[in-house]
Amino acid sequence: MKNYKKFWKLGKKEFNTEIFDINKSGELVIKEGNYQYNAMDLIKKFGTPLEVTFPFVIERRLNDLFNIFNRYIKFYNYHGRFFYHYPMKVNQNKEFVLPIVSEGGNLEVSSANELWLVKKLWEQDQFNSKIRVICNGPKTTTYLGLISDLKSRGLHIVPIIEDEDELVYFTNLKSGKSIGDVGIRIDVDVKVKSHWDKKFNRFGFSAEEVLNMGKIKNLKMLHYHISSQVVQSKDLVLLLKAAIKIFIKLKKVNPALDAIDIGGGFAVPYEKKKLYPIDGVIKNIIKTLNETVAKESIEPPDIIVEWGRYLVAPAQITIFKVLHQKTIASGPAKKWYIIDGSFINDLSDTWALHQKWHVVPVNNMNAKKLIRVWLAGSTCDSDDKYTAGGHYILLPSTENLETGQYQYLAVFDTGAYQDALSSHHCLLSSPAKIIAQNGILALARRRETPDEVGKQFGW
Ligand SMILES: *Cc1c(COP(=O)(O)O)cnc(C)c1O
Repeated sequence: MKNYKKFWKLGKKEFNTEIFDINKSGELVIKEGNYQYNAMDLIKKFGTPLEVTFPFVIERRLNDLFNIFNRYIKFYNYHGRFFYHYPMKVNQNKEFVLPIVSEGGNLEVSSANELWLVKKLWEQDQFNSKIRVICNGPKTTTYLGLISDLKSRGLHIVPIIEDEDELVYFTNLKSGKSIGDVGIRIDVDVKVKSHWDKKFNRFGFSAEEVLNMGKIKNLKMLHYHISSQVVQSKDLVLLLKAAIKIFIKLKKVNPALDAIDIGGGFAVPYEKKKLYPIDGVIKNIIKTLNETVAKESIEPPDIIVEWGRYLVAPAQITIFKVLHQKTIASGPAKKWYIIDGSFINDLSDTWALHQKWHVVPVNNMNAKKLIRVWLAGSTCDSDDKYTAGGHYILLPSTENLETGQYQYLAVFDTGAYQDALSSHHCLLSSPAKIIAQNGILALARRRETPDEVGKQFGW
């Protein structure tokens, strides 16, 4: 008998699929410790398209991150501390943000509206006063107002200076109305391999610009964020090496500077091919910091990471039903499988960045016969498709399904970025969203009714 679990790449920690397994009936199951959810039961109860969020995955990943960093901090006897700041833009759903905060994570916000959510929770007395919030993004008047408001009420907010206007604003505030700790964002001059490596980067100051600024009032943090889904782990370390050089020079003029924030970028193995292991990267980060501070005899800075997709992508899957199929006359695939959701609407990066996904059947996983398919969404748009980059997706042939039975499929790692980018092309309803935690299923967002979708368009 074929090893189906292995074939579908389930149960592998290096692929972030350790919680997935297959049962005797060939159905996808999700394990939370010794508890398990049967994906077909979720479909029967909540229908499709369906997003299933696993907060326990986020909690475990964050705890692992704390453990690994602290292990190497101890190993190298490094005297700086580690902090995790969750970049809220990766997924602002409450079911994603609260588990992170509960496990001791801090936040990074990219807009006034994200900070507004922080304020709302703060006013409800739901944040421990130790939480720290880093503020990136263009500082509009509203954004600046919120920053001042929250700071004056005792929340630890660190605005990051990103351009000349912000530099003037944050360093010229009249004494007595001090804005407190600030950070500055640099554009590290290292080219990294990733989809996002842009020839021209509009974010942050060059090394030369920051070093010519002289003393920057209340400077506590040096920040950079260069790219996402960085393909080679050595690039993450090269960036740090370049940034730490700037840090050392800046610290001579700004002695209070004591933290380096290396932004996001840690990649997710979406395609279930081996990427770099997290242990080695973290070891290298602490080793690099440790060697540099020893050589330069400076105070070891605290280290902050904002790895977003790394933390949350594996904490959600999206389940679709195959509604119809259609023969493809010629091409690498034999059939279109038309799903009851949309790549353009629900997994927009498929369309925007040609994002690759791991797609597995939810039922019929032990099917003897597989066929090469392309997936098409339910909008009328010819771009609403997923072809795995012009190749094909292997899925069970449906010829052995009994009449009235459908083939279901799950797309893995949908927890990062897709929700905030989602849209309503052809006025399709967004998928329902459920939470699976501690063996309990909760409906987080029910499927939109026609009226609710219409309302968003003035009907
Ligand atoms: C987008 C972003 C992140 C997260 O990037 P990932 O690639 O998801 O890790 C972190 N920091 C900043 C400033 C960002 O803009």
